[in-house]
Amino acid sequence: MKILVLGGGGREHALVWKLKQSPRVEKIWCAPGNGGIAAEAECVAIDAGDVGAIVAFAEKVHPHLTIVGPELPLVNGLTDAFRQRNWPIVGPSQHAAQLEGSKIFSKEFLARHGIPTAKMFGAYDSAAEVYRALHSAPFSLVIKADGLCAGKGVFLAPDFAAAKDFVERVMEKNELGPGGKPILLEETLEGDELSFIILTDGNHYAPLVPTRDHKRVFDGNQGPNTGGMGAYSTDELLPDALRETIRKTIIEPTLRGLSADGIPYQGFLYIGLMLTKSGPKVLEFNCRLGDPEAQAILARLDFDLAEILGDVAAGKLNPSKLRWKPGASACVVLTSGGYPGKFEPGKTIDGLTAAGQINGVKVLHAGTKLAGDALVTSGGRVLGVTAAAASIEAALACAYEAASRIHFAGVHYRKDIGAHATRLKAAGD
Ligand code: AMP
Repeated sequence: MKILVLGGGGREHALVWKLKQSPRVEKIWCAPGNGGIAAEAECVAIDAGDVGAIVAFAEKVHPHLTIVGPELPLVNGLTDAFRQRNWPIVGPSQHAAQLEGSKIFSKEFLARHGIPTAKMFGAYDSAAEVYRALHSAPFSLVIKADGLCAGKGVFLAPDFAAAKDFVERVMEKNELGPGGKPILLEETLEGDELSFIILTDGNHYAPLVPTRDHKRVFDGNQGPNTGGMGAYSTDELLPDALRETIRKTIIEPTLRGLSADGIPYQGFLYIGLMLTKSGPKVLEFNCRLGDPEAQAILARLDFDLAEILGDVAAGKLNPSKLRWKPGASACVVLTSGGYPGKFEPGKTIDGLTAAGQINGVKVLHAGTKLAGDALVTSGGRVLGVTAAAASIEAALACAYEAASRIHFAGVHYRKDIGAHATRLKAAGD
């Protein structure tokens, strides 16, 4: 098989790493890829969101399968362009990708099919309407911009002043671009968050192993939100009874709802859940694997990824073929100093060989590029040091030992990835 992977972050490096282990894979292109992916696939300098350029490239090289990593190509209609030409591709249609691309679309979908979620107070096209609604709204509440805003479109507002400030920046100063309008207001949910990701061909589905990510930049969930500072996976995150509840009250109604609405869904579906006192509720849908959840999930994979994704594209997924390594995995993200604010790229990265020598460790690249013979930083999230082992403690120990061997000026990473899991275990929960 010749495979084209779209995207250039840690998630796409993890996909390339596992696809490459398949005996049926002969060649992988990655558009645009990054400095680490370049060692394992042929990187092509095309923006993953540029539908016309990707179609033109595929016309030339004829991949047997194309796999979409990020959301932008989905929302831009890439999979529709491929399917019109009968080219095998993994990822939902532009219509289905509205589950992620429009928060209002997804809230209306959830309401229509009676799927548990935070109560929506209203959706508004103008700042004046939001201010009026905020006067009678109960605080704290959650404000969400409708469109894609690179993770910056959700604000947990403690009071009127903070809410007004956010709405002003998003709707009047357009700080988030066109994705900032309209805006919706919803109730604040409390509980633990859990990411539940499935792979589906539209008829059958298989849940992937459970993961949890860490969004804040500093230890103890302090500081601003980021794209993700790390993730871990262990089966203990999801007791059987909870898994069954999520299947019955969330996953199956979602798949039935999509089918009833005439929206065939094929690919990865990420469901962000809040485990509230009154049961699991949907926070959001993403139409793809999460990043860095993908790194933790794929580290536990024990099946032929190219075969299974080929089956998904052909509409013949056999869920029993998805097998997972027992134990656990962890991904610790190393960032540029200053991220998620301003940072300086171009720092030389050392220690990767020593880090990769630790058993069970794979260093996945996100924001790196080659500058001559040297590997340098080129983004906020630079590397995802990923490890799989027999227990969460062992996976974390390996990942942290490897991370300590890597150096670049200003490097920052959280020291408490997975700490919640080890604390729960120690307490016998
Ligand atoms: P979303 O993009 O909708 O998942 O929002 C990003 C993050 O904001 C989530 O992972 C939650 O931590 C938080 N969040 C979103 N909606 C709510 C809500 N209704 N209540 C509490 N937290 C929320």
